Amino acid sequence: MDRPVYDADVSSNHWMDLSKALPSIAVDKHFHTEGKCIRRLKSVRWPKGLTCSACGSSNIGKIKTRKPYQCRECRHQFSVTSGTICHRSHLDLQQWFIAAEMIISANVSSRRIELQTSERLKQRFEITYKVAFDLRKKLRTDLILPSGGLIGRCICVKQSAETQEHVALHKS
Ligand SMILES: [Zn+2]
Repeated sequence: MDRPVYDADVSSNHWMDLSKALPSIAVDKHFHTEGKCIRRLKSVRWPKGLTCSACGSSNIGKIKTRKPYQCRECRHQFSVTSGTICHRSHLDLQQWFIAAEMIISANVSSRRIELQTSERLKQRFEITYKVAFDLRKKLRTDLILPSGGLIGRCICVKQSAETQEHVALHKS
């Protein structure tokens, strides 16, 4: 597990590494449907297949509700975003992916541009400044983790599994 990181300790190399691992085309083109984003999050969260977040069982069934998975052992119901920073968000997963890309790019660019990120998120998604501010804060806290955080790992498609494991082992 990643330990919390303090913003001041995040080097510019961290943002550069994330930036280099972004898809060759824009994130909204690479992950062009919500379904594709959901499948990506699912494979990053559970590379060895779904497991129940309550009891750890891999005996999971599909149900037709908003939380489409149910554990056959403990009856716990969950969705791909349950227990993540995107849980209960009014934004699509694709918007989270795009926002993460914007934050990474801004951090690579300049401090001045970085400071405008909330305003740019507000305009891009037509959300209130407060929602944009919270979105940025949650994502940034996740992205500065040594592994790049959950959404970072989703959009950094060029980061191989080996790299991710290496980073996780040596930096956290
Ligand atoms: Zn369970």
